[in-house]
Amino acid sequence: MSVGAMRGLRRAARWLKYRFTSRALILMYHRVTTLPTDPHLLAVRPDHFAEQMEEIRRHCIPMRLQELIEALRERKVPNRAVVVTFDDGYADNLHEAKPVLEHYEIPATVFVTAGQVGNRREFWWDDLDRVLLQPGTLPARLRLAMKGRLCDCELGDARTYTENDYRQRRDWHVERQDDPGPRQRLFRRLYVELSALVGGERQRVLDELLAWAGAERTGRRSHYALTTEELILLQAGGLVDVGAHTMTHPYLAALTGAEQNCEIRQSKQCLEAILGCPVTSFAYPHGSSTPESVAILNEAGFVCACSSHPDAVWRDADPFCLPRVVVRDWSSKPFRRWLRWWING
Ligand SMILES: [Zn+2]
Repeated sequence: MSVGAMRGLRRAARWLKYRFTSRALILMYHRVTTLPTDPHLLAVRPDHFAEQMEEIRRHCIPMRLQELIEALRERKVPNRAVVVTFDDGYADNLHEAKPVLEHYEIPATVFVTAGQVGNRREFWWDDLDRVLLQPGTLPARLRLAMKGRLCDCELGDARTYTENDYRQRRDWHVERQDDPGPRQRLFRRLYVELSALVGGERQRVLDELLAWAGAERTGRRSHYALTTEELILLQAGGLVDVGAHTMTHPYLAALTGAEQNCEIRQSKQCLEAILGCPVTSFAYPHGSSTPESVAILNEAGFVCACSSHPDAVWRDADPFCLPRVVVRDWSSKPFRRWLRWWING
């Protein structure tokens, strides 16, 4: 058979699969709130979130993650089933998302970074936004030692970020191709550098960065993670389920087996101690995992884990590598179109 014919066959098989095979969808959210700057596109506005939940209620079958896992065990996937998940454990999941979920009776799973619970410091990626993308003046030169290498950056005129600069650039985000100035370039660079560091070392570099900027270690209230009390309230009522998301949100693939073991097991124990019930679902921070992560999760008693690989969930899906699709800050119309594309192919 010719290469062209093979390709054609493959395309037809894919079309048939998309056209006639039932599939579910796991949605991945982070935050429901309105932010002045959102360089990682983590937030969905509360009114948009309500519109999105209304669309799901109308056109799909909202389902618990655990129900989907049970269906997968029988190699069945209810068509148009949609599972709502949140990553990281921001406080707005309780204050903004939960009332909407309750209104539409849509269950959800929130994957909580256990080491961040009750922490009044921000997640490290939010600290970068606070230091670099808010108006103010910084020292002209940044010198940060990381893993034996030196990040040496001259800010020049960009040491001062005026209200006007801020207003003009507040819509900038990392998925844009263009970086309007040195602040955005530095943001991107530090994000990559800090991503490659693990726990204690990252904290040390971050502390140095905050000291350099003259910024408080305590973060912005708008960027708080859930406290212990809030976490209990989030799960109360049975509509929202809590899953684990490690202790410090590392790239698991960058850790040794022993380190992965600690991150995974401790997060489960910590959340179970707060909630007083088993925590059996997990989401890989940054979507990063290794076969060893899966073995540890299995041994620790987890029944499923969500990745960040964008796809629908087919009946042969691996429960320890469940694909998810990221939802953006869309109103009902673009959300409906997007949802249709995934559900109907
Ligand atoms: Zn995360």
